[in-house]
Amino acid sequence: MYTKYMEEGEPRLSEEDGMIRQKAYAKVNIGLDVLRRRPDGYHELKMIMQTVDIFDDLTFEREREPGIRLRIEGADLPADENNLVYRAAALMMEERQIKEGVAITVTKRIPIAAGMAGGSADAAAAMRGLNALFEMGYATEALRELGVRLGADIPYCITGGTMLSEGIGEVLTPLPAPPECYLVVAKPDMDVSTAFVYQNLRADSLLFHPDIDGMVKALAAGDLGGITDRMGNVLETVTVPAYPVIDRIKTRMRELGAENALMSGSGPTVFGIYKDQETAKKAAAIIREEKLAGAVFATRFCEGVNV
Ligand code: ATP
Repeated sequence: MYTKYMEEGEPRLSEEDGMIRQKAYAKVNIGLDVLRRRPDGYHELKMIMQTVDIFDDLTFEREREPGIRLRIEGADLPADENNLVYRAAALMMEERQIKEGVAITVTKRIPIAAGMAGGSADAAAAMRGLNALFEMGYATEALRELGVRLGADIPYCITGGTMLSEGIGEVLTPLPAPPECYLVVAKPDMDVSTAFVYQNLRADSLLFHPDIDGMVKALAAGDLGGITDRMGNVLETVTVPAYPVIDRIKTRMRELGAENALMSGSGPTVFGIYKDQETAKKAAAIIREEKLAGAVFATRFCEGVNV
């Protein structure tokens, strides 16, 4: 009983320090379409989610004293009910009537309000962590069902990986991972509110819809060019006019050798896909030097995690 990391299978209590550790991975959308605005105000989406190798670290410890003690390192975020990690922990403990307490530490690296689902990834990692810490025995699907109560991206973030996401984000179909490639991820220095973007989206008069079905086929065929040719995100119609630097970063990434570049989620993060690692590293260094974005990562796609 001492496997500590989820990559090694189901996380269990560490014998050395009694602590559970989870990594919360960020995502990008390699394709994002909005089909329509529903009468209840939600948007019907069709998007392809992909985990990237940028992550927050979470640790969990049991405590005798009841309650949730949350500490956030590396970012100025609330550590109370306003934090999704706190809400996820409260939900799990309420569901299972846990009388003990828990101490959770989150070390943030994923840019905030960036379109990378950082908050949802943390919440999903908290659900996996508490599931293991208190040996609750939730299976993946049950965790997804619980998670959707807190946010539409959380069911996906329970495992991550490559997935087609439909409905409001809760209808998930696993897809084959993209062929090997390299990424530059750049988050310019502004926060974008997801609510602002959806409120200003003219969902019923979009002139362009990305070919998500074609991208699904390209993934199945392992055809990187077929994927990069179809990259598209309808939310760019709102975020790019508000923050033109997004377009400058996309153009720069392509000039520096990207097969293609796109805004992720509601933005403002931009990612470029490269065939060659050296080219990607050089592009990241140049974009950093030119100060087009405050946070720049040379990274890769990665697989999902086990519950
Ligand atoms: P998405 O791609 O799902 O739209 P995002 O990357 O745009 O996500 P997040 O970083 O998840 O946005 O955060 C959005 C807001 O949620 C932040 O402004 C923050 O105040 C709040 N929040 C609550 N908990 C967290 C958390 N653990 N990490 C980041 N943000 C959090």
